[in-house]
Amino acid sequence: MSHLPPAVRTARAPVLIGTVLAAIAWAHPSSSGPGAGSPKLDAALEAIELDAIKADVHYIASDEMGGRDTPSEGLKATARYLAARLERLGFAHGAQDGYLYPYPLESRMLDLANSGAAVLDGDKQTALEFGKDYFFFAREVATHELEGPVVYCGSASDAELAELELTGKWALCTEDSSTRSSSRERARTLQQRGALGVIVMPGSNYKGKPYEERFRPEIDRASRASVSYPQGNAAEGARKAVLPQVFMAKPAQRLRVDLSPPPKPGKLLDVRFREWRKLAGDGGLVQVENVCGFWPGDDPKLKHEVILISAHYDHVGTRSDGTIYNGADDNGSGTTTLLALAAALKAHGPLRRSVLLLWVSGEEKGLWGSQAWTESPWLPSGCKPVCNINIDMVGRNAGDKLLVTPSKDHQSYNGLTKLAESFASNEKFKPLGSADEYWERSDHVNFARNLKIPVCFLFSDVHADYHQPGDDPEKIDCDKIRRVARLVMRMLDGLQADELQL
Ligand SMILES: [Zn+2]
Repeated sequence: MSHLPPAVRTARAPVLIGTVLAAIAWAHPSSSGPGAGSPKLDAALEAIELDAIKADVHYIASDEMGGRDTPSEGLKATARYLAARLERLGFAHGAQDGYLYPYPLESRMLDLANSGAAVLDGDKQTALEFGKDYFFFAREVATHELEGPVVYCGSASDAELAELELTGKWALCTEDSSTRSSSRERARTLQQRGALGVIVMPGSNYKGKPYEERFRPEIDRASRASVSYPQGNAAEGARKAVLPQVFMAKPAQRLRVDLSPPPKPGKLLDVRFREWRKLAGDGGLVQVENVCGFWPGDDPKLKHEVILISAHYDHVGTRSDGTIYNGADDNGSGTTTLLALAAALKAHGPLRRSVLLLWVSGEEKGLWGSQAWTESPWLPSGCKPVCNINIDMVGRNAGDKLLVTPSKDHQSYNGLTKLAESFASNEKFKPLGSADEYWERSDHVNFARNLKIPVCFLFSDVHADYHQPGDDPEKIDCDKIRRVARLVMRMLDGLQADELQL
């Protein structure tokens, strides 16, 4: 469950296909009514085992997975655990090159080893160290390499800059407590004048914190992973618009400029300055993965229709003080539900329609994995998605409590929810409550909005450990996960009629 709804959203609710809320046609080959089993369904339900669920929850939500942040080593390890299970159970590849569906994120992490600065004096080069000799804001982590002459600009006031030729040069500026403009405004002004970048140093009246202290949080931030979902060219353009600013504690001796008395603005220094930054990862992109297992249907007419069952397998990771957020319920529970379903499908054999088990990443950061998949869906040739059942946080609270959205009070109420409602009592759940207030908070919303297919979200509510370090496997009601998996298996069985009326 994501802490916040995704940032970029349209306000309109989705238009679902087949809004006719006709009763589900029960007369299909593998069952004769709600709850009544067929041998295949019985075998599938039997294959959903409590001990396997316990083992999976404890592994996926173990400290060693580090809270499965997107991106992280623990997330990668979890993805491979899921993929290995799919392989063992004989699932077909659900992505182009296997079980893993990669998608890129933009990385804002500085590659320290490949970033630096230097003062150039003819053939002589004096290297400067980031975090010791010079500093910059973490928001300015980017890839660039800039070299040019250095021109003294005083405090970069309009009067001082009026006559100066700055094109292709580093502007060396002082800052004092009396300096009125912000560093951003100063950078903007200098950029408009064609400067390459700005070197900032404390002026004689500077009363702020020493740069070493002032920039300590920025150093930490610049060298920690910070990723975002690619927003396209507009964001790239906006980022390029920032003029690099370098803050130097002792530039006078480094750049060999005599500041007593300060030179006239416009004076060219005897040295040149070079500064280079590099984003970690391949060109500032890091790959993360969804995990996809395809269970082909066997009905010649219906096998191209694919039911998507999704759960996010990421969580919020480890804090800088070492506290691990294991996310056993959020969403170790849903992740495990899908593994239990994989075993059930194996025992069942093919359904008439195909099923894609889809574990998505990046949910906690803003539903990124489902956004990536729905923006570029991949299914075997000729297949199309027809509906989505999404599972997030189903292992806590009262054993008989389960919520659903869209509920009957929601405008997107559909046949999937009706199926869930009709089978709830078979698995010892009370009549399903409403999760409508969480409509925007998990991945189903991307399937509804971007693919315009009916969706159903199963959820058993938040609790005191929601997004806290205490969301641990010991507190999980694994029998509840077992019954949710059985409920979804019954729903899958109920989705095999000739015509889907959702
Ligand atoms: Zn969450």
